[in-house]
Amino acid sequence: MGNLMMTIEMSARKSIALVAHDNQKDDLLEWVRFNMASLLEHALYATGTTGWLLERELGLPIHRLQSGPLGGDQQIGAKISEGEIDCLIFFWDPLESQPHDPDIKALLRLAAVWNIPVATNRATADFLISSPLMVGEYGRIVPDYSAYRRRLEAKVTPDEPAKI
Ligand code: PGA
Repeated sequence: MGNLMMTIEMSARKSIALVAHDNQKDDLLEWVRFNMASLLEHALYATGTTGWLLERELGLPIHRLQSGPLGGDQQIGAKISEGEIDCLIFFWDPLESQPHDPDIKALLRLAAVWNIPVATNRATADFLISSPLMVGEYGRIVPDYSAYRRRLEAKVTPDEPAKI
């Protein structure tokens, strides 16, 4: 894919996605309550049930997507690839498999493709939320995928019709 890199600018106000599996929801609720003032500086997104819980318990303004097993993780992945989500806080359950395990893997893959900060447990979430970068501008470096796209496009471009 070559070594060309590009920078995607993240503003001081981030778009943060919050997701918790069922056994982790209490943990996330407690974490969000503790960090409420900081989180209110940003735009918040969440999968369906997580978002519903945060709204109900904390009255948090939140963009609610589908519930995870119904496509919420895929919606977050799509938003990451469209540059609409800057950061993912994902309290996933390491002890239980989920019906939507493939979606979770896909979400984490896209987070890596687009080099967004991801916390998959509470300690990392603490480090992220207390980072000065969370409230500042930041240029996130990603491979310049345009060469990759051009190669794919070249592959599917039909040959010029032969001149008779
Ligand atoms: P939920 O989805 O917030 O709707 O429970 C979370 C998930 O399992 O991805």
